[in-house]
Amino acid sequence: MAQEAKILVIDDEEVIREGCKKTLHKNGYEVDMAGDGNIGLKKVKEGRFDIVLLDLKMPGLSGMDFLKGVQKIDPDIVNVIITGYATIESAVDAMKLGAYDYIPKPFSPEQLRQVVKRAIEKRRLIEEAKRLRRQQEQFMLMVYHEMKVPLTVVKGYLGNLMKAEIIAENEAFNNMLTRSLLRIDSLIQLSEDMLNFSLLKENQIKRNIEPTSVVDLLNEVMESVSIDAKKREINIELIVLDEPPGIKADRDDIRKLFTNLLTNAIKYNKHNGSVFIMVARKENRLFIQIKDTGVGIKKEHINRIFDEFYRAKDEKTRDITGTGLGLSIVKNIVDSYKGNIDVESEPDKGSTFSIYLPMD
Ligand code: ADP
Repeated sequence: MAQEAKILVIDDEEVIREGCKKTLHKNGYEVDMAGDGNIGLKKVKEGRFDIVLLDLKMPGLSGMDFLKGVQKIDPDIVNVIITGYATIESAVDAMKLGAYDYIPKPFSPEQLRQVVKRAIEKRRLIEEAKRLRRQQEQFMLMVYHEMKVPLTVVKGYLGNLMKAEIIAENEAFNNMLTRSLLRIDSLIQLSEDMLNFSLLKENQIKRNIEPTSVVDLLNEVMESVSIDAKKREINIELIVLDEPPGIKADRDDIRKLFTNLLTNAIKYNKHNGSVFIMVARKENRLFIQIKDTGVGIKKEHINRIFDEFYRAKDEKTRDITGTGLGLSIVKNIVDSYKGNIDVESEPDKGSTFSIYLPMD
């Protein structure tokens, strides 16, 4: 920890509060006190604490209610329960609410010092993990930009070369360039997937939640994938059964969700296949179904396709490029809106992805 640990003692018994303060002061800790859970929560809101020593049985706001409240204010605070022998069971319940440790009453100064020492170590580990996550995120952003910019430039050059007469006339050159462009596209996709995946996983995306029309976004994404669909002569059809009201969501999230599902519905489809998209209301949820007439997914793979980096490789999908991150990004997004996603699939017939999103 950057500075000396700050400890808050919450107990309705003054002797305990003062006793803890005296012992911990001697060890150089900064100690503040509160006589009940409400005052405790107020202090946590106003100042930064590393550790809370918390009595469970207090008049007013109980220790349990404090634990529920503190989770929302600062989930990284390490809470240690002070409890009588008779209430070990409630200490266990408190641990289920996120308390880290407990100390039974009566306790000696040495026992208190030991439990606080462990809690401080725990707090240090939490901070270290957060620091590493921040570093990882910065690294991912750096890699993304360092890759994306040159790849986009090279893609532009290759695109221009494709138009040159000498290439058009030479089949071997044309093949090489087409393959290079495909490789570059999958590298650009990889860098985007890696970035989205790491940011979503760490919940680091700053969301701009606003009323969002799912149908507008579907139309937008259909337009953006239309070139790939045309190349494979795949027809995409959108059916809106009930015009749903806008959901409250970040447009980028919903765009990513549809882009990944539609890209897959095209990538894993048959030449000349179809994609049907349906939007409807089911009770108070928005129901979106994306159905393709593609290669389908074998039973042994279906439970794992939402896993990170999982790719169901077989003779039909071997040559299709991908990272195995698309569906885990989709799942992350759906989960973050408290929605649901299901898949049904039959090999050689096609796959149907069904998404439910709450409308409020
Ligand atoms: P990627 O497409 O990059 O491999 P995804 O996470 O999007 O990764 O998908 C994971 C795997 O699920 C794919 O490798 C593929 O085998 C399978 N899959 C996804 N969508 C479909 C689909 N519409 N039809 C058939 N297989 C699919």
